[in-house]
Amino acid sequence: MGTHGVAQVSPTELLPGLFRIEVPLPQSPLRSINSYVIPTGDGGLVVDTGMLRPECETVLRAGFAELGVDPGRARFFITHIHADHSGLVTALAGPGATVMMGRIEIELLEHFVSRERFLEVLAERGRMFGLAGEEVQGAASRHPGLRYSPTSYPTMTPVDDGDHVEAGGYRFRVIHTPGHTPGHLCLWEASRRLLISGDHILGDITPNITSWMGVRDSLGDYLRSLERTAGLGAARALPGHRGAIGDVNGRIAELQAHHARRLEEVLRILKDGPQTVCQVAARMSWEIVAEDFAAFPVAQKWFACGEASAHLDRLEVLGRAGSFGDPPRWELS
Ligand SMILES: [Zn+2]
Repeated sequence: MGTHGVAQVSPTELLPGLFRIEVPLPQSPLRSINSYVIPTGDGGLVVDTGMLRPECETVLRAGFAELGVDPGRARFFITHIHADHSGLVTALAGPGATVMMGRIEIELLEHFVSRERFLEVLAERGRMFGLAGEEVQGAASRHPGLRYSPTSYPTMTPVDDGDHVEAGGYRFRVIHTPGHTPGHLCLWEASRRLLISGDHILGDITPNITSWMGVRDSLGDYLRSLERTAGLGAARALPGHRGAIGDVNGRIAELQAHHARRLEEVLRILKDGPQTVCQVAARMSWEIVAEDFAAFPVAQKWFACGEASAHLDRLEVLGRAGSFGDPPRWELS
């Protein structure tokens, strides 16, 4: 540990010429975010950054310096919109840099850049969940997307499924994996059977799957994306948080089983009659509760409601549940 209680670890070479910089996320149960870096003569490729926080920026810049990467002219590839992946890119990317992100995520950014619009979206979602007004306010004031994102972004280069990104000896194909976010992207290196998985597949934590405004069935999207990534037959995944994953399809099977159990659990809860999203969430079992739960109860409640909401949407699409009223109350159908 460094003198400020923040891990100061040198970049680790995971594969020839491909490095991981572990960027600390203080007070977050996620602990850290992985920035994957392939240094090249022309600035290098950087996959994901960190939050707009000095603790992240210091570690990332030290890692870049050690690897000889100039962020002012690097190519950044951002797997998805969340602040821990995208928040630092404005501070890092110089005029000579390229910032790539999924087309759908770039459209979503418009909602997140305007604080007013962001609060409107949160208020609408809070109403849908059946949360009290003060709980929505509390969640808004702690939302990482509001606290640790920049107020503007550099010009983004939209990337789509099937595009290629090359760096060093690596040739990645872009894979659109909606679910965790609507425009989430992974990078697939077929010759090495290597998947850079962002928050689509994580090792010892379950990716948060929430409902999104304008998305009918984000859990259904996620399960289809898992199916698709299982078909790649990856030998190794490099996730957005924590260490590399060896048995990728084994982990995918665990995530599929987790959501199948969750859907059954929600069906059991609904047997007791109509309930709001928040009431359903309160009765679900939560393994995501981390040591920092006490510090962020409102935020955790918000994420729990989002998860419950995604599972309810899935059940509705499957014809197993439906809702009525305002705020919506859910029941078996
Ligand atoms: Zn994320």
